[in-house]
Amino acid sequence: MIAHIALFLCTLVAMEAVGFLAHKYVMHGWGWFLHRSHHEKHLGAVETNDVYLLVLALVAITLIVLGNSGHDPLQWIGAGVAAFGIIYVVVHDGIVHRHWPLRPKPRNRYLRRLYHAHLMHHGVQGREHSVSFGFLYAPPIHRLKRQLRAARRAENTPAKTLPPMGAGLAGD
Ligand SMILES: [Zn+2]
Ligand SMILES: [Zn+2]
Repeated sequence: MIAHIALFLCTLVAMEAVGFLAHKYVMHGWGWFLHRSHHEKHLGAVETNDVYLLVLALVAITLIVLGNSGHDPLQWIGAGVAAFGIIYVVVHDGIVHRHWPLRPKPRNRYLRRLYHAHLMHHGVQGREHSVSFGFLYAPPIHRLKRQLRAARRAENTPAKTLPPMGAGLAGD
């Protein structure tokens, strides 16, 4: 049982690395045609980008079904993938982009850091020069700001349009 829980937790952590690489090299690479909808000005509740979430769900379900039909311990890896997907949806869709009728605010330091880091990911137009590709881990904000300024210089966007800290937190 302890080995199973360890496998579940390791999968959850490994999924952050997989997510980072997939976001940087697939979603901002050859898979941009699906991810682009997520970088458009007006984000919708449903985007073509959700195809990636669907793929994640299918992987998790397949692993759980295989594990439960005799291929132990695949179900625990599947549970780790599913947990990553659920946390991602809550943090990314719910707290950062606030797609839901209920709009939870990022109150603790960890969530606020994820929130600002992801806003910086959206601080660059287009596929190239983006910063902060992780979902559940964010590097220190000052480092991301430096990267974003360099990215802005690279794409020739005025630095003054950097998203301000706390943007979107006041009011609603
Ligand atoms: Zn992106
Ligand atoms: Zn986003």
